[in-house]
Amino acid sequence: KKSYLVDAKIAVCGQKSVGKSALTVRFLTKRYIGEYDHQADKVHKHEILVDTEAVLVEIWDTCMFDENDSISSKAEALAWCDGLLLVYSINDRDSFNFIKKVKQELQNSDTPVLLIGNKADLIHLRQVSTEEGEILAKDFDCKFYEISAAEQVHQVSDAFLDLCREILQAKRKSK
Ligand code: GDP
Ligand code: MG
Repeated sequence: KKSYLVDAKIAVCGQKSVGKSALTVRFLTKRYIGEYDHQADKVHKHEILVDTEAVLVEIWDTCMFDENDSISSKAEALAWCDGLLLVYSINDRDSFNFIKKVKQELQNSDTPVLLIGNKADLIHLRQVSTEEGEILAKDFDCKFYEISAAEQVHQVSDAFLDLCREILQAKRKSK
């Protein structure tokens, strides 16, 4: 069994239907299949190259951080992960407000975070401006990607890889 020098555990969080599973599957398989199991609450393990380094990435495509989610399960996700991918969809203001709330709960955490405004292809249904996303990212002190799991491949990869880089950096610092 191969052992890795580094691993990166990412929890993908956000309200239901924002595209957490679509983004995860897009990143891992490059494909977009359109419909995803809503109950699936699983960890995908995958070897990826981050720059020149082989990294074992574990992605928890959560069903957590939903409305009826308990504080303890959030704490569990936080304790488990090395980095958080926070996702809202640009056509759903509610999902954006939800991320703002999560932000407040994360105040004492130094877990690396990356913010994604997904479904960027649905411009005609837009409820959250690009600028609002940028402002929230500034607030988080994190990177921001407005992307479409449905239509983009490279940008989705870039978002995951950026978070991986930050995780690896944070791990090196804490060693
Ligand atoms: P989750 O509940 O956050 O895991 O959301 P899913 O990944 O299951 O996606 C919910 C729905 O939104 C599905 O019907 C997806 O096909 C759709 N969806 C996901 N990403 C996009 C996107 O970038 N653009 C559009 N138009 N639809 C998307
Ligand atoms: Mg899902």
